[in-house]
Amino acid sequence: MGEITAKCQVCSKKYKMEHYKIGLTINCPICNNLTEVVVVKYSSNSRYQITYKQFSNLLFYEPHSKVILPIIKKWFNCEAIFNGKVMVFKTGTGEFSVENIHKEIQCNPRLQYDLYQEAMTLWR
Ligand SMILES: [Zn+2]
Repeated sequence: MGEITAKCQVCSKKYKMEHYKIGLTINCPICNNLTEVVVVKYSSNSRYQITYKQFSNLLFYEPHSKVILPIIKKWFNCEAIFNGKVMVFKTGTGEFSVENIHKEIQCNPRLQYDLYQEAMTLWR
């Protein structure tokens, strides 16, 4: 698990956070105000990081989701179900949210790297 150092946008204090939370809005562990996780120091696990926001865009922007969804279905052997608002991934053992799937990918160096490469191809 890669830990990054992030800086609170409200109190300016630094704190440690799991690498896959980059870009998310959280309650600052020090002042408890809402703040975006802004990195000041990356971990080795965050080199090929795709943030949760970028990941959502890949899933919901159709020209990209056409490429990304089949890859995720294959990796997790799951079905993506989208009701117009919320997307869930159904596997044999249960349902996973976009956030769960993002975390799984970001905690698996091989999947993280492969997704990064795919995204870079789309964004070029
Ligand atoms: Zn703070």
